[in-house]
Amino acid sequence: MPTSRSSSPRILRPTPANLARLAATLRHGGIVGVPSETVYGLAADALSEDACAGIFKAKGRPTTDPLIVHLASARELGRVAEVNDAARALAAAFWPGPLTLVLPKLACVPDLVTAGKATVAVRVPAHPLFRRLIRLAGRPLAAPSANPFGYVSPTTAAHVREGLSGTALRSVLDGGECRVGVESTILDLSQPGRPRLLRPGGLPVEEIERVLGRPVSRPRPARLSAATAAPAPGMLARHYSPRTPLSLHPRLDGAFLARLPGDEAVLLLRRPADAPARGADPRLRWLSEDGELATIARHLFAELRALDGAGWRRLHAELPAGGEGLAPAIRDRLTRAAAKR
Ligand code: AMP
Ligand code: MG
Repeated sequence: MPTSRSSSPRILRPTPANLARLAATLRHGGIVGVPSETVYGLAADALSEDACAGIFKAKGRPTTDPLIVHLASARELGRVAEVNDAARALAAAFWPGPLTLVLPKLACVPDLVTAGKATVAVRVPAHPLFRRLIRLAGRPLAAPSANPFGYVSPTTAAHVREGLSGTALRSVLDGGECRVGVESTILDLSQPGRPRLLRPGGLPVEEIERVLGRPVSRPRPARLSAATAAPAPGMLARHYSPRTPLSLHPRLDGAFLARLPGDEAVLLLRRPADAPARGADPRLRWLSEDGELATIARHLFAELRALDGAGWRRLHAELPAGGEGLAPAIRDRLTRAAAKR
């Protein structure tokens, strides 16, 4: 008789025996929760359609949403994709790291992985345990974020266990808290002369432009109406979203905080000058002491989860300004998190 306890995935310490066990699960077509430097992933053999079907099922992810294929090293890129000079240059500069390249796919990559597209998204993750598992499994691993589709992404093994209890997932490899905290930057290089940003992420796009020596075209930035600070209707897919309604604000000042109802909470980018001690006012949380974007990104999803679980009627979050560094990725995640259903 299955119990709720037995359907909860176990969190495994990264011992050699556990790594060998997880690699065997992957070779036999199973799914495994894995740490990466961006967010935790739900991994399966990228060259097996059946194995990857398990990912879509556990997440409730529509099969129109393709998966990223993870390699242990850039040398293996030619096993799954058609490589070009721009891809070689970016791989040499940024892998292992939070950059995903979209390239023409080879026939060995199942259609399910690419949602029927002729291109495949590929990266080499920086987390050493993830790469070790790819090597032990002996095959590339497809892995989206290890959360129910549409919910806040997981940045600890405990988040994965919470989100995917009751699914076929049996084990999560514990690799600690994710260092970057937001997903990879996705760059379409299927036409190498016309690089296009598909998703801002953990690698700032200006660093990519520096290596390519040419501009990267960016999607239309998420536009906010000045009056309501709500996302313009129809512009954004809802994703990364807490269940509690979330409102966004260019800046949350003392006057706003003074009027804040007792059953609403705010997530600030940095500690306010006159802040009480952390936790003294439970309605008030902040993502960094000093506004450093890397710290804000690292804490963003965990703080959204913590607030979402605390029973508030509404959440308010501050949006970072600026087009450089991690600001576009943080703005993208918050804007989608706040988008209406
Ligand atoms: P996730 O792994 O959940 O962070 O999502 C991976 C994302 O990668 C997808 O939602 C797509 O936006 C993108 N992606 C994956 N494969 C492709 C592809 N072949 N072409 C364009 N985008 C892709
Ligand atoms: Mg995801």
